[in-house]
Amino acid sequence: MNTGRKMLESAQAIILKTAKSLKLANELIERLIQPNVIHELNFSVGKKIYKGFRIQHNNNLGPYKGGIRFHPNVSREEVQALATLMTIKCAVAGLPYGGAKGGVIVDPKKLNENELDELSRAYVRAINTFIGAEIDVPAPDVNTNPKIMEWMVDEYVKRIKNQKSKIKTDHETLNKLRATFTGKPIDIGGSLGRTEATGRGGVFILKALLNKLRNSKVYSLKSNNLTVAVQGYGNVGYYFAKLAHEQGLKIISVSDSKGAVLVNDGLDPETTMNCKKEKGTVAGCYCKGSVCDIRYGKTISSASLLELPVDILVPAALENVINETNMKKIKAKIIVEMANGPITEEAYEYLTKKGVIIIPDVLANSGGVTVSYLEWYQNMHGEKWSEDKVNEKLRLMMDKAFYSIWDKASGYKALDLKQAAFEVAIERIVKK
Ligand code: GLU
Repeated sequence: MNTGRKMLESAQAIILKTAKSLKLANELIERLIQPNVIHELNFSVGKKIYKGFRIQHNNNLGPYKGGIRFHPNVSREEVQALATLMTIKCAVAGLPYGGAKGGVIVDPKKLNENELDELSRAYVRAINTFIGAEIDVPAPDVNTNPKIMEWMVDEYVKRIKNQKSKIKTDHETLNKLRATFTGKPIDIGGSLGRTEATGRGGVFILKALLNKLRNSKVYSLKSNNLTVAVQGYGNVGYYFAKLAHEQGLKIISVSDSKGAVLVNDGLDPETTMNCKKEKGTVAGCYCKGSVCDIRYGKTISSASLLELPVDILVPAALENVINETNMKKIKAKIIVEMANGPITEEAYEYLTKKGVIIIPDVLANSGGVTVSYLEWYQNMHGEKWSEDKVNEKLRLMMDKAFYSIWDKASGYKALDLKQAAFEVAIERIVKK
């Protein structure tokens, strides 16, 4: 089965299960499962035709919100699954947003900067009539970044100015137009702290969980030197590793799409990133402190990283990487889902039953969209906050999200934070 379809079926199954347990009416359940609008787009860049999507799942709690990904495996089902998860994620994080997602079927690694600029603008021309700061607010996702947001927002503002010749061009109007996209570069209205936000939010949630576990009689966990393996060394995985390391966790393995490294004494995430920039991959980067040396570690496969006997496993790359084929080999006690949908439904059930504690994606990686909201808020109110202020607000919001899910989950026999997160989210969505 294609991975997008599998992901969509899992997302829909858990909504159905949760909504039924909450005894919601059938029409209401159907509206939570089916998206409000599916935009399937065919657009041209020069002579090349691209296929893309923008799927607006639900806007009960506020404007649609969610990233845009550029990836060869993008499909309607995948984007729909991700849009559905955004609805749940925004509700879990307590944000005044609904959920959406966009995607273009393309391998951006094969495009040069000019072609990427053209593609980003063409995609915006295809979606500009149904997005807006109070309608639908896109952001970065897999393979998209602040630079791409800059091209997109520039194209969007141009379009709006063309369509409405009488539109004011003052600062306030421009700020509000720019609020249509988040994850922008700082000089055009981006927020300090947005780049690190997903990783930072994940570390806040993990810390809150560890505090609870240390005080719990049921779950025993040694108090220091907890080991961590992180799959994926992009924006999310890197900042997670860096900030977790700063909090005293021992990162022993990291990977990217080209390979993984194992440094048993614990690696230095920043030095490893510098090495990756030089080599183009983390493979071969065995970096302790400020020194990288062949004697410190070894190269392993990205698949075997998942099976290491670590305390905490962090899949921060793509979906469905923990599945029926490897679930029995997973040895971690805690898994933090920093990617969207990295664990399949079967594997989730198996691991939860085994006693593994899983922090679900809709909670673990909600720091990104939370700081997107703080960026949007600053744009809408003409404010610019310091990085400390943003980080402190993020911490408070993440803690609040965590405790509401933890309290809900505490009533369950097996500690199933995912089931609890969906319950909290759906209660909030239908209450509105
Ligand atoms: N793409 C990120 C996510 O999946 C961020 C979305 C946003 O900031 O709107 O949560």
